[in-house]
Amino acid sequence: MTFSYDQTVVLKDISVAFEKGEKVAIIGQNGAGKTTLSKLLNGLLRPDQGSITLFGDDICDKSTSVISKHVGYSFQNPDDQIFHDTVKKEIAFGPENLRFDTQHAKQAIDNAIRLSGLTELLDTPPYNLPFSQRKFVTLASVIAMEPEIIILDEPTAGQDKAGIQQLEKMIHTLSDTTIIVVTHDMEFVARNFDRILVMANGQILSDSGAKETFYNKPLMEKANIEQPYLMSVVEEFLFQQDITTVEAFRHRLKNGRIQ
Ligand code: ADP
Repeated sequence: MTFSYDQTVVLKDISVAFEKGEKVAIIGQNGAGKTTLSKLLNGLLRPDQGSITLFGDDICDKSTSVISKHVGYSFQNPDDQIFHDTVKKEIAFGPENLRFDTQHAKQAIDNAIRLSGLTELLDTPPYNLPFSQRKFVTLASVIAMEPEIIILDEPTAGQDKAGIQQLEKMIHTLSDTTIIVVTHDMEFVARNFDRILVMANGQILSDSGAKETFYNKPLMEKANIEQPYLMSVVEEFLFQQDITTVEAFRHRLKNGRIQ
């Protein structure tokens, strides 16, 4: 699939597939094409060439409202997504709009509220909440619609440690939902994602696990990505101990010769 803004090609022959329940992080420096790819996946943008299929159906000629039933999107800035005057109304809008029956809607809304930690704030106007909680309001609104796929743009931005923990719990609890995040937060990626797409110059340079990604020096340099702190500490430690293989590490551990 290829995509251009005006005459400028920004995604070149991208080919990628996602499985049900996968947790995938898209990383790469600014301008790599991450947001453009995520907007193509939920129909906000359409490819110039190639196709995008969802459960085997081409979605390129489907309306955004049809696609958004299946693909939820949380914008980087929650204020682009908040319209109602209480947290509860904001979260309830999606299931009502999708005409969930009463019991189903209640269940979906309650689940989204619980996962987002908003139980105490339901009657509060979202605009009275800090950025970090407004972000959880938009996350809850997306979860309440029960899409099979959720795309999160920079979900950890503006969150403190407790907010990030809440987010991580949410991601892992939604075990059947495919979750795709665009993020600059490498610690968050290393802790939570088994599959990492590294993008640079409108292409996917690598599609693999955390170890394969973050210990691949040439890849990290090419994509201009920072190694997560804990992984760099481990690497430095192993280097100092002159340990270059897993077998050597096990051997040293067994013999109690790790200092
Ligand atoms: P990332 O999310 O990795 O920072 P983007 O997908 O936002 O990258 O941008 C990819 C490229 O497309 C960049 O060169 C950017 O300048 C360009 N671009 C992004 N949005 C637009 C737009 N609305 N019009 C023209 N060019 C754009």
